[in-house]
Amino acid sequence: MEETATYMHVGVKLSSNNSSKERTREQCNKGKGMLAGLSAVGVRSTALNPIISSQLWETVCIPSMLHGSELWCNLTSTEVDGLEKTQKLAAKCIQGLPMRTHDEVARGLLGWANVKSLIHLKKMAFLRQLINAPIGTLARQIFIRRLYEFVFQTSDTMKGFLPDIAIILDHYDLYSYLEEYVTESSFPSKAAWKAITKRSVFEHYAHVARARLSLKGDVPRYTRVHGGNNPFVLYKIAKTNVLYKSNLCNLARILALPCNDTYIDCDLCGITYIDCVDHYIMQCPMLNDKRDKLWDMITDVVGVHVAACLFHKSESEVLDIFLGKRWELVDLDVNMAQAFICAVSVGIKGILL
Ligand SMILES: [Zn+2]
Repeated sequence: MEETATYMHVGVKLSSNNSSKERTREQCNKGKGMLAGLSAVGVRSTALNPIISSQLWETVCIPSMLHGSELWCNLTSTEVDGLEKTQKLAAKCIQGLPMRTHDEVARGLLGWANVKSLIHLKKMAFLRQLINAPIGTLARQIFIRRLYEFVFQTSDTMKGFLPDIAIILDHYDLYSYLEEYVTESSFPSKAAWKAITKRSVFEHYAHVARARLSLKGDVPRYTRVHGGNNPFVLYKIAKTNVLYKSNLCNLARILALPCNDTYIDCDLCGITYIDCVDHYIMQCPMLNDKRDKLWDMITDVVGVHVAACLFHKSESEVLDIFLGKRWELVDLDVNMAQAFICAVSVGIKGILL
């Protein structure tokens, strides 16, 4: 019988030394390879809308990259970092963001959670599959046996799916569902469990991402304008206003820029600034003519009354609205708001050219 270092079992590579490094590295390469392949069909910042690219990444690349991750246990931090880096690369390529963009911002604009969260979701979905497996099947028999071994602590050295899923459920305050299954044999339906786990995981990730960005403190505008778990609103508008897609995506890239932590002299007017976005779009006197054109375009689209309302807001509030903050602030209906932000995107491109 031939001895080998690795063995493929139902599509998952198992290593004779119980190390998963090689497998994780291959999965990362698979993700990067698929991203390169999708780039050829338009998954890049200069082609498809980021929402479409995001859907392709999530439906084509993620299932392949995370194939079998339901049974991945004890991943090292290096392995998790490798997977996260692959996803971050995808988020930045899809949106054309500089590599120095904060990872939470790159993911947040697409409404993504990190890879670790996605693996947790897959593991929790697998738990329900095992619970719901037909009575008598081998997988269910093993699961039930292992579950009772775990619950009643008959094994001190248990490793694998059960202790792993228990930690994950506890992490999201969902362990009570497993306890209820053990005591009362009841568990949420497939749709209900999917909704419960998705809400818990995404809310937890959003909380962690907000805390990290707050700690970094250099993207306050991003956190004011886009705080949710959904794709950025300007990408949604670009889906129905395709002629403005490039300009709207440009606004997203401006929003994602971190602020400087040092003062810089403007190369146009010589004035010292710390926030380049604020200076060039709202303040630089050398760009007054281009800024006037932006306001003319806004007035043409929304009328003098709304333009006057904007004038009465603070500079910071106006810039937030220019970069996608909720337009209820300027009292516009959906169609008018879309026309407004499209005009803004053209005007800002004119200023920054
Ligand atoms: Zn200037």
